[in-house]
Amino acid sequence: MSETPETIVITDPDSDRYHTFGYISWWQQEVVRNATILVVGAGALGNEVLKNLALMGIGNIIIADFDTIEDSNLSRSVLFRASDRGRRKVDAAAERVKELNPDVNVKTWHGNINFEMGLGVFRHVDAIVGCLDNREARLSINRFSWQINRPWVDGAIQELMGIVRVFWPGQGACYECTLTDLDYQIINLRYSCPLLARQNILQGKVPTTPTSASIVAAMQTQEALKLIHDMEVQPGKAVMINGLTNDIYTTEYPVKESCMSHAMLEPIVALDGATAVSTTLAELLTIAREQLADDAVLEFDGEIVTTMHCLDCGEEFPIFRKMARLYENESACPNCGGRREMSMTHRVDGSEEFLNRILAEMDVPPLGIIRARSVSKKESIYLELTGDKETFLKFD
Ligand SMILES: [Zn+2]
Ligand SMILES: [Zn+2]
Repeated sequence: MSETPETIVITDPDSDRYHTFGYISWWQQEVVRNATILVVGAGALGNEVLKNLALMGIGNIIIADFDTIEDSNLSRSVLFRASDRGRRKVDAAAERVKELNPDVNVKTWHGNINFEMGLGVFRHVDAIVGCLDNREARLSINRFSWQINRPWVDGAIQELMGIVRVFWPGQGACYECTLTDLDYQIINLRYSCPLLARQNILQGKVPTTPTSASIVAAMQTQEALKLIHDMEVQPGKAVMINGLTNDIYTTEYPVKESCMSHAMLEPIVALDGATAVSTTLAELLTIAREQLADDAVLEFDGEIVTTMHCLDCGEEFPIFRKMARLYENESACPNCGGRREMSMTHRVDGSEEFLNRILAEMDVPPLGIIRARSVSKKESIYLELTGDKETFLKFD
């Protein structure tokens, strides 16, 4: 098609699995090999994206998912086998990715992406690919991506329809800009549960096919490939694929001025010596005061339940977990079954009794980012537990 640039490297097809890519003028296998891509969701889309990333020889892949495999996944998941029933999706997917291409380093992360992954993780990957089936998780990824100022690639499928889009903070509409009143109603409905967890709320099941998963995931992978090569993408625009009529078109979303997602954390201060398992609250507060002001306080991104107090038997229980991560059944007292009252906080000012707790014991994840705020200076900085990078982003 185009002229062959001089930089092209043609290798031996017998000994190099990436031989063919060498003919693509812009393809840099070195870039691909050194890239780290975070794939959120290991369902129908995630399977296809992971397969493609493995075939291309992406050097480092983080697979994030909270789910386990059931038989109904087998019709749309190229990486899963019948014998995988009951296994964590991340484990089976990682195993098959390694089989497809042993060059690829894989790290699995099993948890709830909405509350449990350190924000800094998103900052230290080269591309974020969302392979999600619900609005809440998309909204979370979208807000994280804005907060740390990184693009992400979204994919969505339903029957023979598909959508692929890149969202880039500050460049065009973001995912939340695209939400309608109905979308918010659906999200609120799922969050309207009076107390804590929503473990009993079923995921809205959307009918999907392996073909639309392949098509959309293939395009998502291509967008990720462009991102790692610093090639042009079209943020804030969607590729709409209608498999019934074979129409494919792009559409641009308007930016919503009132959008709640447009918040960047600035400046983020990378603390190379701080980790979730070694740094205490007191130490982090000291750092905050050195870096910002003497009156700095630490602020967490959500309420942390410190204790639960039984209204019936009077027993007090230390909890130290994000409220969003508590389950509904935990409101009952384990001693007497009575109702427990929660004490919570999202701010640490140095007067607390629990200052010697390490951050992990405050439910802060590895590579977490914690706000330090000074009232007198009317300023905030964001402290990243960058020391966790060494262990968290270590691949095998
Ligand atoms: Zn927006
Ligand atoms: Zn009790």
